[in-house]
Amino acid sequence: MEKYDLVVIGTGPAGEKGAVKAAYFGHKVAIIEKETTFGGAEVVTGTLPSKTLKETALFLSGKYEKGLYGIDRSLQHPASVRDFMYRKNYITKSCAEEIHQNLHAHGVAIYKGTASFVDAHTVRVKDTEIWGKYILIATGSYPYHPPHIPFDAKRVHDSDTILHIEAFPRSLCIVGAGVIGCEYVTIFSTMGTKVYLINDKDALLPHVDAEVTEELIKQMRASGVDILFNTSVKEVHVPSQENEPLQIDLQDGNVLTADLFLYAAGRCGHVKELGLEKIGIVPDKRETIHVDSFYRTQVPHIYAVGDVIGFPALASTSMDQGRVAVAHMFSMRDLEHLPEYVPYGIYTIPEISMIGLTEQQAREKNISYMVGKARYADMPRGKIMGAQSGFIKILFDKNSLVVLGVHIIGHIACELIHYGMILVEEKKNLYDVIGTVFNFPTLHDLYKYAAYDGLSMIRGHKVKQ
Ligand SMILES: Cc1cc2nc3c(=O)[nH]c(=O)nc-3n(C[C@H](O)[C@H](O)[C@H](O)COP(=O)(O)OP(=O)(O)OC[C@H]3O[C@@H](n4cnc5c(N)ncnc54)[C@H](O)[C@@H]3O)c2cc1C
Repeated sequence: MEKYDLVVIGTGPAGEKGAVKAAYFGHKVAIIEKETTFGGAEVVTGTLPSKTLKETALFLSGKYEKGLYGIDRSLQHPASVRDFMYRKNYITKSCAEEIHQNLHAHGVAIYKGTASFVDAHTVRVKDTEIWGKYILIATGSYPYHPPHIPFDAKRVHDSDTILHIEAFPRSLCIVGAGVIGCEYVTIFSTMGTKVYLINDKDALLPHVDAEVTEELIKQMRASGVDILFNTSVKEVHVPSQENEPLQIDLQDGNVLTADLFLYAAGRCGHVKELGLEKIGIVPDKRETIHVDSFYRTQVPHIYAVGDVIGFPALASTSMDQGRVAVAHMFSMRDLEHLPEYVPYGIYTIPEISMIGLTEQQAREKNISYMVGKARYADMPRGKIMGAQSGFIKILFDKNSLVVLGVHIIGHIACELIHYGMILVEEKKNLYDVIGTVFNFPTLHDLYKYAAYDGLSMIRGHKVKQ
């Protein structure tokens, strides 16, 4: 039996980065993948495909430039689903190939097949058994399928199968107002699909600043999205004829008709095939694995990282969890934990990003805070771009002026947030922000003007700086 210092299960971001780090530092590493394409949800079914579709939707719909110089550069012919999927397929193929090459270049042994535990050090892949001094479970997650939804991957989809539609829906009903649901709402509505968003609560994106979600709701409604709050789906009727619409019965008695249905509420840890019972690891309700702060499971030489351990379930955090786990198992001491605050990027149209505290969290902590704001449309760069909406909000401590949180909705919010991340992580105050020289004109001016706005609030009168 081949023996390794580390056996990694899964080639998603958590597994790939963990495997490569261990191999880079001279350890003998094997990685196992059950799918033909490497990269997991990051590359094949989630992060990069949906982000590429977002960019494609903006491009094909002409909405990147809309407003700029008053020119509408929309396509002169309706975009086909082939146009829509082309770049997504290209990105998946090339990024999966890069992962393969990265593993290969670092000398990681690759096993193709489904991994399951034989005992706490031995893993079986097809007919082969391999031994690992350490094992890293990085098997990710899969979309939750409630029993009353008749998923068929043709008209009734989850977030994996929606990536393979063969025709554009004229109408689409989406359940779930979390990140995935909201991203697909704005992607499809940008492409001209009539979208219905159904959510059993009265708000979207519960972890996001309320003013930011209000702006998103406003923009969704402006692009024709019908948002149905405080209701859920009772039944989806799929007609035998493809040209007839689906009928969707809601709990509140309303009935919707739509060409397609996407259920995007909740994910479960991918543990079923692992045979965890053989090694004494008991997953919790959503099939996630409990770990300590070093990502060790109940069995100390077996670590688990990424979506399979649950929150925050992001590609960004999964990669570093993989690296932290490996640093701990081989006592590398170069990366001992993730930072206290990690940014959240939501690639809706418009983008949303945040770091640190929301107003609600600040109130719960009894922090005396204030807010400074600036609008994209007031910044020279925003004016050049023709920005009509979008803003930044800096939350700061009223006494120390230290920045507690930054919230952005608007163009490239997920890029702009990284300066805010430094402010929060390094406990910078408003004077640090106004004392910083940025390139001009850039959207980073938003930070400066929000800081001036915050100082004006403190002084009780507005000053144009
Ligand atoms: C639609 C969507 C959009 C998203 N957008 C973002 C975003 O914008 N930003 C962000 O940071 N995150 C985003 N995410 C989340 C991100 O994709 C995940 O957090 C990340 O991919 C998790 O990485 P992972 O390595 O834990 O698992 P995965 O990426 O799921 O990889 C797990 C791998 O393990 C393999 N595997 C499973 N079981 C076995 C087994 N028994 N044997 C062998 N192989 C096995 C799987 O085939 C898979 O390749 C998005 C997710 C979705 C679904």
